[in-house]
Amino acid sequence: MVVIAIDGPAASGKSTIAKKLATELGYTYIDSGAMYRAVTLEYLRHCEELNATKQSRGNDEAILQSILNDFQFDFDGDDVIINGQDRSPDIRTNLVSQNVSYIASFKTVREKLVELQRQMSQSKDIVMDGRDIGTVVFPDADLKIFMVASAQVRAERRAAQLKTQGEEVDIEQLVKEIEKRDEIDSQREHSPLVKADDAIEICTDDLSIEEVTKVIKSYCRTGEPL
Ligand code: C5P
Repeated sequence: MVVIAIDGPAASGKSTIAKKLATELGYTYIDSGAMYRAVTLEYLRHCEELNATKQSRGNDEAILQSILNDFQFDFDGDDVIINGQDRSPDIRTNLVSQNVSYIASFKTVREKLVELQRQMSQSKDIVMDGRDIGTVVFPDADLKIFMVASAQVRAERRAAQLKTQGEEVDIEQLVKEIEKRDEIDSQREHSPLVKADDAIEICTDDLSIEEVTKVIKSYCRTGEPL
């Protein structure tokens, strides 16, 4: 089975490219970030129910453990199914984005989701995107891409995405939030965001979706850019 791992910071274009690549190659696309977002959504719901404040987050390990005990996650095409319900738009809100890196830093969360990610990819060719796919989830992946873009370009892309969901955000504020998320993702103790030694780095600032996909397909075929 073939595994293509695409890692990189927030909004660097990973999911758009990974999805397109999977479609063109006839592989299955797996969005690992959606899984961390799903746990975060459940966590926020729990906090709301408990009426928890930021100060009472000392209990978060226990809250997350109870969420993970019953956590049923699946993809139905592009739809994200959490505990039997389609929650696709709910995992993409800015509130979830603001909290997801914190939740993703818990070892218990990472261990459970990595196990699910490996299970989901048994017996099929896959393109999976995330932060630790080439380093931790599939260290022996057939091809590893590390996708980067400037914070400004990434914020503009994320703002456009949020706008389609009816959320208006300030770009400067978004740049700060994206940089904050990168900092937490890169500096966390467990599975930090780092480029695998054998990953190919692609900067998507000045490349179209088609151009990036073409370069990666060329690497798949020949091991060379184009
Ligand atoms: O890819 P996306 O931006 O939706 O991911 C949301 C968050 O999930 C990331 O900022 C990161 O904190 C976490 N994540 C992770 N490991 C992955 C995928 C996502 O820690 N493999």
